Amino acid sequence: MDSGQSMDRTMPRESLVGQQVDVPGLDTGTPAMDTGDGTRSGEFEDSTEGGFPREPLQVSDPARHTWRVITDPRSEPKLEGWTRFVCFSDTHGKHKSIPTSHIVEGDVLLHAGDFSNTGEPQQVQDLAEWLAAYPAAHKVVIAGNHDVTFHADYYKRAWQRYHRSPADVEATRALLTGPSSPCIYLEDATTEVLGYQIYGSPWQPEFCDWAFNLAPEELAPKWAEIPGDVDILMTHGPPRGIGDMTFLGKRAGCDHLLGAIRQRPVTVHVSGHIHEGYGAVEDDVLFVNASTCTLKYKPMNKPVVFDLPPAAVLHRSRRQPAGSAGRARARQRESLSMELP
Ligand code: MN
Ligand code: MN
Repeated sequence: MDSGQSMDRTMPRESLVGQQVDVPGLDTGTPAMDTGDGTRSGEFEDSTEGGFPREPLQVSDPARHTWRVITDPRSEPKLEGWTRFVCFSDTHGKHKSIPTSHIVEGDVLLHAGDFSNTGEPQQVQDLAEWLAAYPAAHKVVIAGNHDVTFHADYYKRAWQRYHRSPADVEATRALLTGPSSPCIYLEDATTEVLGYQIYGSPWQPEFCDWAFNLAPEELAPKWAEIPGDVDILMTHGPPRGIGDMTFLGKRAGCDHLLGAIRQRPVTVHVSGHIHEGYGAVEDDVLFVNASTCTLKYKPMNKPVVFDLPPAAVLHRSRRQPAGSAGRARARQRESLSMELP
C-alpha cells in the first residue's frame, strides 16, 4: 500500500492538467490536456511532447528535483546518485579551531571566501592543509575582502595597512592555484564538478576600502559575466535582502546580485561575508550564507550541507529564470522566509 503521504499527492486525473507530475519510467512532465479517451498529452521536462499513461500519476515533489538541505548530515544519507555539498565561509585563519564534529563528509566542499584575516601566507598555507585533509573529493574556493594578498593591484597600494613588509602575492596565491593546490580556486570563473556548473566571484559592495570592493555601478557589469547556465553561484557577499542583515540592523547585500541570480537558472547561491547572516533561506533558489565564524570571529557555526540530484536530472528540472509572475511569487516567499536564521 502507498503511504498516506503519497496517496495525498495522487490526485484525480482531471485535476492534473497544468501540474507537474512524475511519469513512471519516463520523466517529470506537465499534462496540457485530457484527450477525453483516458489519455493525456503534454510536455515533458526535456521539452519533448508525448502522451501520458492512464494510471494515477503522482504530483511531483519539487524539492525532490531541486535540493535537500541536510540538518543532520551524519544521520541523513544521500539519495542514490545525489551529490552532497558542504559549505564553509569566513573561516578567517581559524581552521585548526573548527570543531571536529563540524568536519562532515561530502562530495564537494565549497568555501565562499575570507579564509584569512588579512591574506597572511601562513593562514593560506593552513587553509591549504585543512582542505587537503578534508573528507571531500572536490573543493572549490573563492576569496573575500579579507584575503587581501589575492587582490594584487589592491595589495600593491594598501599593503602597509596590514603588514610590516609586503607578502609575496604570487607565492601566496600559488598555494591555491599552483600544481599542488588541494582545490579549485575561482575568480570570476566557472568550473564543472560532477556535471554541475559552478561559478565563483570574490567581489562585494565597497566597505572601508578592503580587497575586491566595488561601487554598485561597477558590480552590475561583474555579475553580467555570470554565465546563463550556472547551477551553483558562489560570491563572497550575499544578495540584498537575504542573509545580509548586519548586527546594526542594516542590509549590506548587493541589489544587482539578486537581480543577476533571478535572471539565471541558479539552483544554489552560496555566500558568507555578513557573519550574522549565517543560515539558509529557500525560495525558488536555495540561498546559503555559510559564515563559519560568528560576529565575534569564533569558528563555531556548522557547515551548511545540501544535496543535489544528479546534474542531468537537475538540468532537466531546472527552473525557468523568473519572469514577471515567477518573480513576484519568489519575492513574496522571500519576505516570508527572511526572518529565518
Ligand atoms: Mn568575514
Ligand atoms: Mn568578508
